[in-house]
Amino acid sequence: MNKNEWFKRIPKVDILLETEEIENLIESYGRTSVLSGIREEMDILRKQISQCETEEDAIQRIEELVDKIQEGVEKKHTPNMELVINGTGTVLHTNLGRAPISKKHMERLALIASGYGNLEYNLKEGRRGERYSHFEELLCEITGAEAAMAVNNNASSVLLILNTLAKGGEAIVSRGELIEIGGKFRIPDVMEASGAVMVEVGTTNKTHLEDYEKAITEETKAILKVHTSNYQVVGFTESVSMEELSAISNERDIPLVEDLGSGVLIDLSKYGLTYEPRVQDSIEKGADVVCFSGDKLLGGPQAGIIIGKKKYIDQMKKNQLTRALRIDKFTATALELTLLEYLSEENVVKNIPVLEMITMPYEVVEKKAKKLLRELKKQNMPGDYKLCGCESQIGGGSLPLERLKSAGVSIASEGISAAEIETRLRKLPIPIIVRIVNDEILIDVRCIEEKNMQMIAKMLKENRVFESVS
Ligand SMILES: *Cc1c(COP(=O)(O)O)cnc(C)c1O
Repeated sequence: MNKNEWFKRIPKVDILLETEEIENLIESYGRTSVLSGIREEMDILRKQISQCETEEDAIQRIEELVDKIQEGVEKKHTPNMELVINGTGTVLHTNLGRAPISKKHMERLALIASGYGNLEYNLKEGRRGERYSHFEELLCEITGAEAAMAVNNNASSVLLILNTLAKGGEAIVSRGELIEIGGKFRIPDVMEASGAVMVEVGTTNKTHLEDYEKAITEETKAILKVHTSNYQVVGFTESVSMEELSAISNERDIPLVEDLGSGVLIDLSKYGLTYEPRVQDSIEKGADVVCFSGDKLLGGPQAGIIIGKKKYIDQMKKNQLTRALRIDKFTATALELTLLEYLSEENVVKNIPVLEMITMPYEVVEKKAKKLLRELKKQNMPGDYKLCGCESQIGGGSLPLERLKSAGVSIASEGISAAEIETRLRKLPIPIIVRIVNDEILIDVRCIEEKNMQMIAKMLKENRVFESVS
């Protein structure tokens, strides 16, 4: 048994390069990438051979080399970010990318993203334009604000607002509003990063107008109100209304800033949901600057939208920090397209997926669940499928207490644990993300399009998700 002999059987790189499989691979992925793939697999193979016990084993490994190279190169070139099916029912699922952008807008978005656009070019006058110009007027018309702009996300909005208005000075905020949003966004930390000194007033559950009044000094540069979008303090509570704050902020000429978080532009109570304060309400009640996310209840791209008095927005546009936080052409295009839908409420609840899913009547969700159930049964797979009622959440820290009456299919399969099925669903060619409720898999269909039900059922069948492996 001479291991050196085994090593000699490994084909030389030149020989490999002449095989049809490798030639095809080079055609698709280029020579450099294939060569580095060959080197990687060769290294692995050498290590394996040095551990092989028998010649047979070594030969088999050598024979598998080309396949391994092929697999390795293909895998490396496959994008890691992939489409998943959201079976959790959570509409703004942060881990799944929050708001899906309307398919209706994709063609135009692709056109502009893959070509050039008048992002910062004024076509009428043939000179430099402003990247906010495409949606500033729209935002003003919809919200009643004087001016508007957008940055990378709403965390950036808060940072930019405080940095512009309150750097080197003080900003007052109620202790009841010192929130933490997922992803470690904390008001005190953002405040510190902005260069403003935070002045906390009131207590966790109660803050009075006089608390704010007493805290105002020569150094006060802003009053910040934060919408506690992802939790609620209930019971013995009190907070100061925007109207009252606006009165003192006007009197002392201190800008009143409101971080709304979710940024709803329509009255959700018309659709049976809790009334969530709208952006328009903030402006009407006297906020000087308001900011909110583009990809929460607005249903657009990730962005932080800042609206309010022109004199403050102008200062922010000029801040150096804006250059670091600015939006790109994808966002600017998607934001304009999203906001255009808001010109008509009938359209917006139909064309903006987030709003469509949130306002979806129960009968529609139930119909989709029945369709999924029918398709699953058609496939004759093992397992026990049942239509079931459930509750969806809005997610993304928006309307945290709201539960939407929803429907789905619960699945159990003899001999396979729910955890095992959950894993298998997650590893499908198009992964399905689900919840486990009472030890059963629950696919909430709220966020799944009806036209995908058949494809899902077939995929489950083809990949033998419910078959026990013996
Ligand atoms: C979500 C949220 C933010 C952060 O917004 P992103 O767009 O996620 O950066 C800030 N403030 C409030 C109140 C929020 O709800």
